[in-house]
Amino acid sequence: MESAESAILMRANLQAKKNRPSFSHGKVCDVFCSGNLIEIGFLSGRCCNDRRGSCIMCDYGAANGIRPIQEYLVEMDRILEEAAPSVHVLLLCTNGSFLDRTQISQELFQAVLERAAQSQIEWIEIETHYKDVTPKKLRQIQHLLPNKRIAIEMGLETTNPVYQSHIIMKEIDLAAYERTVALIQSFGFLAEVNIMVGLPFLSPKEQFDDAVRTMEWAFRHGCGLVVFPMNIKPYTLLMEMFRSGHYQPISSWMLPLLLDTLSGPQLEQVTVAWYGNREEIYPETQERAIFSRSCPSCAAEIKRVYRQCSETAAKRCWHSFFRGPAGAAAAAGRTPKTRFPHSRRIRLSPSMRSIFPI
Ligand code: SF4
Repeated sequence: MESAESAILMRANLQAKKNRPSFSHGKVCDVFCSGNLIEIGFLSGRCCNDRRGSCIMCDYGAANGIRPIQEYLVEMDRILEEAAPSVHVLLLCTNGSFLDRTQISQELFQAVLERAAQSQIEWIEIETHYKDVTPKKLRQIQHLLPNKRIAIEMGLETTNPVYQSHIIMKEIDLAAYERTVALIQSFGFLAEVNIMVGLPFLSPKEQFDDAVRTMEWAFRHGCGLVVFPMNIKPYTLLMEMFRSGHYQPISSWMLPLLLDTLSGPQLEQVTVAWYGNREEIYPETQERAIFSRSCPSCAAEIKRVYRQCSETAAKRCWHSFFRGPAGAAAAAGRTPKTRFPHSRRIRLSPSMRSIFPI
């Protein structure tokens, strides 16, 4: 149930979004390429949590409405035609949840997956809210994509119930989320968990510890991990908190230190997203996102590692999942258990020092 504090935060977040322009007219899909991955975002309506005012850090934008199905399909065909032959992963998403019927109708869902099935791309990934994942939807996905490897990517951000109810406020019930992960894995699909680094109202140490605990949870449950260093986006309450001095951008070092707590195989299951390599731009305004920060002498090195994690880990993650014990266990309907040593080291290990020669 919503607390008085979270109700106030949600109202303030809605206020921050009040003057947000909608996606420019004529834009049907967002396309993003990184390494061997191509992402097609079908811009449609508005995320239900964005509408409520939860997720005080998020702005994936809002569309004026929903376009005719044919427009999305023509655009998808064009994008796939122009995709480089090196693309191996197709990420299907929207500005919210791809399995939410109010954003992506059943007809569009089916037509998009039929096209994805016909493409040469081997791995298909669908980004959605966990509440929209049902056995029926998963059966449809399995049926429509018979010869593909499939991943379902879902926002979690944190496993801490207090942070969930008071900071994220999108009503994630961890026990239900866990059941959804097991359901996805029972189909032989990869479950991918989105994890946020840099939650507001926490000290840097609390942010770090929370991310470590959430990553441990994801590893224990045999999931792929997509780590999001916090962006401060225009038209969010987080941006207002930054402007009034109540939130600071995270240090760019936080992510390398987090990665340093992982073993080699774990490291390969992690992808880094939205590390400063992309942003929503509203052409009618000067508003821009603010990313993690570091001193000028290490900025270039850190960015290089972010890029490395974002461009190469996706493929490695898929390989290690489907060819390794986690994939076998998921296909057999078992949840693999990974022992995960909790590390609070703040000195870089030799392997990380080789990545960061500074
Ligand atoms: S983080 Fe996800 S659920 Fe929350 S508003 Fe953004 S798109 Fe919606």
